[in-house]
Amino acid sequence: MGSVPSIKDVLGELKKESYIPLLSKLIGEAEFVQNNPPDLIPEEDKIVNHVLDVLNPFSIDNGGSLIIKQVNYADKRGNLIIEYPGTVSGKVISFVGSHMDVVPANRDTWEFDPFSLSIDGDKLRGRGTTDCLGHVTLLTELLKKIAETKLKLKSSVVVIFIASEENNLIPGIGVEQLYADGYFNHLKGGPLYWVDAADSQPCIGTGGSIPWSIKTTGKLFHSGMPNKAINALELAMDALKPIQLNFYEDFPADSRESDYGFETPSTMKPTQWSYPGGGLNQIPGESTIAGDVRLTPFYEVKDVVAKIQAYADDINANVEDLESRGPVSKYTLPEEGIRGRIDVTFGEPISGIACDVHSLGFQILSNATMEVIGYVKPFSITGSLPLVRELQNEGYDVQTIGYGLTDTYHADNEYCNFSDMANGYKVFASIISQLEEVC
Ligand SMILES: [Zn+2]
Repeated sequence: MGSVPSIKDVLGELKKESYIPLLSKLIGEAEFVQNNPPDLIPEEDKIVNHVLDVLNPFSIDNGGSLIIKQVNYADKRGNLIIEYPGTVSGKVISFVGSHMDVVPANRDTWEFDPFSLSIDGDKLRGRGTTDCLGHVTLLTELLKKIAETKLKLKSSVVVIFIASEENNLIPGIGVEQLYADGYFNHLKGGPLYWVDAADSQPCIGTGGSIPWSIKTTGKLFHSGMPNKAINALELAMDALKPIQLNFYEDFPADSRESDYGFETPSTMKPTQWSYPGGGLNQIPGESTIAGDVRLTPFYEVKDVVAKIQAYADDINANVEDLESRGPVSKYTLPEEGIRGRIDVTFGEPISGIACDVHSLGFQILSNATMEVIGYVKPFSITGSLPLVRELQNEGYDVQTIGYGLTDTYHADNEYCNFSDMANGYKVFASIISQLEEVC
């Protein structure tokens, strides 16, 4: 027995001399995988191809063991599913969600080139190092090592790299479609780690997000005769305040938020304001105010949408009662039969998740984190991840983890630390090893 090397011994450590060159290739493509349609449409295949260069030599087609599937729902925009088959049917562990697109970066506002990897001591700098090409590289290196060493495992190890995560304006290209098409069906038999978080600790809660927009319609008129106008800007301000106050009454802080380590309760706030434009001496007849709701996972997105719609309906039915601003400001013109009104619309919402901290997936992640990092301090954020709540509702053991840095997510001067990624590699090795001991 003593002479058989352990799984952890076989997997060893993340090799810098292998990790850096691959990461460097991926960051070199970051410019072409920026996601901000319609201007910037990512070509995730550029990342897929580098990953395939590393893994194809170990594919079944080339006499190896990896089952590799590329799934494209749009030209040049692939997703990649890689499986290392285990010996026990149905036993599986999956690492999914690391995405191959990035948020845009502006060279002019960075201190270094966002689109080419630079190294400063332990820091690996460039767009996508933290979010999420650093993880794509990490998992590719892990798969390569498993395949290269022909590691004997009872569990199948499945990795899914996804397209179109940072912006879902063009739907049907990324992970939701993979799920709809059954590519997750066999992953229910074991823990599913969503690898797109940060700070090397279990991220046990994420937020939901609900984009909303409220258009207000009044009546445009000369600012010298405000009695004949309905001021759409004032209406927006006076309508939004009771809507926000109602929101905070109906979706107050939940005691579980502090257990999960959320820094804020659910919030609703405006972030953008626009109106058609006009002279300083014209009272505007239209405006739009927009923002989002960030919802902790203890509330349902659909309840929020229904409530906000109801607040708006109530304001429209009773717009004469809305508090206004001074003796002439008002929201109806009875003699002309005109009423100010507000129309609320919602963008595509995402639901948050509260991970099950009593599940096998959490237990072994927690053990592995303790072993490698030395302490376990789970946290939550009201950032959002796609699909995770739906997977959990369907009975998947979803846990989220990542080895980048929260402070550099979506920020200028993004970087990650090689030492954190190396820890991530060891945590994953430990997770795989622990799962082998579980029947
Ligand atoms: Zn991400």
